[in-house]
Amino acid sequence: MSRKKEAFRPKVEGKVGMYVCGVTAYDLSHIGHARVYVTFDVLYRYLKNLEYKVCYVRNFTDVDDKIIARANELGEDPISLSKRYCEEFLVDMMHLHCLPPSVEPRVSDHMPQIIDMIKKILDNGCAYQIDGDVYFSVDKFPEYGQLSGRKLEDNRAGERVAVDSRKKNPADFALWKSAKEGEPFWESPWGPGRPGWHIECSAMSATYLGYSFDIHGGGMDLVFPHHENEIAQSCAACRQSNISYWIHNGFVTVDSEKMSKSLGNFFTIRQVIEFYHPLALRLFLLGTHYRSPINYSDVQLESASERMYYIYQTLYDCENVISQHAVRQDNIPSDTLDCIVKFKNEFVASMSDDLHTPVILAALSDPLKIINDLLHTRKGRKQQLRMESLAALEKVIRNALTVLGLLPGSYLEVLQQLREKALKRAKLTEEEVLQKIGERTAARNAKQYEKSDTIRKALATVGIALMDSPDGTTWRPTIPLAMQGQMAPMT
Ligand SMILES: [Zn+2]
Ligand SMILES: [Zn+2]
Repeated sequence: MSRKKEAFRPKVEGKVGMYVCGVTAYDLSHIGHARVYVTFDVLYRYLKNLEYKVCYVRNFTDVDDKIIARANELGEDPISLSKRYCEEFLVDMMHLHCLPPSVEPRVSDHMPQIIDMIKKILDNGCAYQIDGDVYFSVDKFPEYGQLSGRKLEDNRAGERVAVDSRKKNPADFALWKSAKEGEPFWESPWGPGRPGWHIECSAMSATYLGYSFDIHGGGMDLVFPHHENEIAQSCAACRQSNISYWIHNGFVTVDSEKMSKSLGNFFTIRQVIEFYHPLALRLFLLGTHYRSPINYSDVQLESASERMYYIYQTLYDCENVISQHAVRQDNIPSDTLDCIVKFKNEFVASMSDDLHTPVILAALSDPLKIINDLLHTRKGRKQQLRMESLAALEKVIRNALTVLGLLPGSYLEVLQQLREKALKRAKLTEEEVLQKIGERTAARNAKQYEKSDTIRKALATVGIALMDSPDGTTWRPTIPLAMQGQMAPMT
């Protein structure tokens, strides 16, 4: 609202109320949705990490024009269609490691609260009814436009949709729509109908968080008109209504155009995670500050997958070594301690500074490198209190990954999944890769180096890297050769 960073001060000490606008459930969610909910999941996790008691409300829009249109297309009941897509959305959220919010209210379960709020707005003289429809009267709310910075005249000038001549002001919006043939409806004082889109969020946020709470969030496309209208409705129903902080995340773009359903240039979460690990998608999203636009491309996903493999491989190796030794937690060498203190400070400073996740992801490099040195270099392996260092470094990274939602149940399991996804992208089976490795070893033994190089290069081209060691040759995923030149840095 103030268009600047402000210190966060909750309305009630130690507690945070946060409402995030959820999806309209009529289709599978795309990467733009993934970005919204990963962003607010990180905020939720971080606030909890700071020991706030957070009530996080994320709604489902299960009554809406788009749902009805889609249901009619498919000859399905709109409520059952939206129920199905709510379930699909929750599956995506689970894959992306988004924690379940405290409450996930649905419009269809909150008709009494919605109708009650419309009554209040009418009673306070900020709405009017015509033929079973109820409209919000923007002229009765002088602060209209304060969030988006739009003036009412701008709205009038920009009005492209057919103007409903019954409206007092073209910017007036529907609170209640009378039922049309073949649409689901609910009884109300204004006759059978259903709520307009905006009123649901005002009503559901007031139900669970009251008229005043701390954070209201969503994608930046919601600033206008959705959130502008929410403010108008909530304040019209209750003068004391106040949201302390509005937080909006930036778009996902494809070739510099906003990814959206209406432009048809979108990828569903389902499509992406068929070929890339969902946590690699999450890492990719967190690699850009949430308010900046983020450009989606396969190269970025390859890059995130490779980074992810490196992080988990390092931590897996570390865990393996530590588990074979007794480790004393209280005795940490001073240079390790310096690295840990530096990382922790950077973590708190960057996360508290408007969630600068890319800084944290970059800051992981130092402790990860020290772990690898301790595990694999001659000098590292001779270090005093090596186990203690490894355990302390692994712990600090684990804590950071937990807040970022990037900690897997098992490092090994995700490494295996990352390998499976890489094989899928390469269109190869593990057996085929092992067979190629066998052929290459035979070629090398026969001193046919040209042939062995050709095999190595063919695999590298499709994203399979071979690693030779005294125990033989193994493989791991890598960025396909052709893509390596096109990579932008992660941060
Ligand atoms: Zn909303
Ligand atoms: Zn909202």
